[in-house]
Amino acid sequence: MARPKKRIKTKVMAKKDLKKYKELLLKERESIGGEISHIAKEALKQSQREASGDLSGYTYHMADMASDNYERDFSLGRATEEQKLLYAIDEAMKRIEDGTYGNCLQCGKSISKKRLIAVPHTELCIDCQKSDEKDHAGPS
Ligand SMILES: [Zn+2]
Repeated sequence: MARPKKRIKTKVMAKKDLKKYKELLLKERESIGGEISHIAKEALKQSQREASGDLSGYTYHMADMASDNYERDFSLGRATEEQKLLYAIDEAMKRIEDGTYGNCLQCGKSISKKRLIAVPHTELCIDCQKSDEKDHAGPS
């Protein structure tokens, strides 16, 4: 997401507030981090099983394999979503470091504290988030 080009007067958050949100982000990252490695391990186990290529049992296990594949795709999809989240958390951490955290990346206004506490990695204020979702909803 591109930062707004024109210079917007942004408020810099108090150091103690930044610290508080940093802790929230760290906690969020920690909880996702554990889950990702678990999912990645499961997905790896699945592909190793397939790579071992037990062809004799292939037809017999067709139904099993179909559901295995489905579950693996699902896990990988989830891992990608969580990686996106991790990326967003890292970006938010950078904004804490340079003092721009808490300002909407789109309009530059301060994001409400309530929203930051609920979604510490957010980069948009509630208004921009809403219009963003509207844009992605497609033609109506
Ligand atoms: Zn905004």
